[in-house]
Amino acid sequence: MDTIYVAFGRRFSMGLYSDLQNKRVVVTGGASGIGYATAARFLDEGSRVVILDIHSEGLDAAETALPGLEGVVQTDVGSPEEVQRAFAEVDRLMGGIDVLISNAGVSYRCPFLDIPPEQWSRVMDINLGGMFHCSREAMSRMDAQGSGVILMTASTNGTEGHPYYTDYNASKAGVILLTQTMALEFAPRVRVNAICPGYVLTPMQKAEYTPEMLEATNRKIPMQRHAQPDEIAALFAFLASEQASYITGSVIPIDGGETAGLQ
Ligand code: NAD
Repeated sequence: MDTIYVAFGRRFSMGLYSDLQNKRVVVTGGASGIGYATAARFLDEGSRVVILDIHSEGLDAAETALPGLEGVVQTDVGSPEEVQRAFAEVDRLMGGIDVLISNAGVSYRCPFLDIPPEQWSRVMDINLGGMFHCSREAMSRMDAQGSGVILMTASTNGTEGHPYYTDYNASKAGVILLTQTMALEFAPRVRVNAICPGYVLTPMQKAEYTPEMLEATNRKIPMQRHAQPDEIAALFAFLASEQASYITGSVIPIDGGETAGLQ
């Protein structure tokens, strides 16, 4: 992964997974955090990458920082119409899709009784609805071509309760069953898996901490630190590659030991 060169306007590299070269990859929420690191990682693997994100300034910054991108499309993944339009643009840019990294999400720290119904609906629309809309567009193309990989960002919050995140936790639990059900319906042609990150130091996570809270959380994690976004991107690259050819319907924690048990 250290040899990167540019030719014909594209980044090429000695990636770890040669079968990812020229794969057509769509990353949602790719303007920031885990999604951005994942887009960069697939570019390093020699894949063709399009980012979908709602944040136009973030998309401009990503396009500048990652000149190998095939394109970026401003999209609210919570809107089925916008997602449909975005995938038409993906078709125009890349002629289809081989790998979907369905990753866009939002979270708000909020005690249960203070969650306004509008927030509940918005979190569900983006975190669960967005995964459904994007997967539906991707799967219709993958099913027709008889191959593909869909990977979703769930969370350890989708497998066990965490106070003050009721809407988020419920949405991520939904992502897990969405993943497993799609995996069953579309095996063996298309592999579908979910990953469950624990604490990852991204803008979403940083926004919720004071420096003291960050330190206190680090002490609770067996690995004694948050994950870096590129550590999550590495799992996505492996799962998209042929090295993971027998992995489907799986829900894979990547959490520094957080859910391994009590200490
Ligand atoms: P982030 O805020 O850095 O990135 C999220 C991206 O999603 C942003 O670029 C944002 O603009 C985009 N987005 C938000 N709403 C959108 C919408 N409606 N349509 C399209 N794009 C939208 O956050 P992150 O930490 O990188 O989170 C990425 C994913 O990882 C999320 O699904 C999150 O729930 C999940 N996750 C994060 C952590 C963590 O600790 N950071 C842990 C577990 C799971």
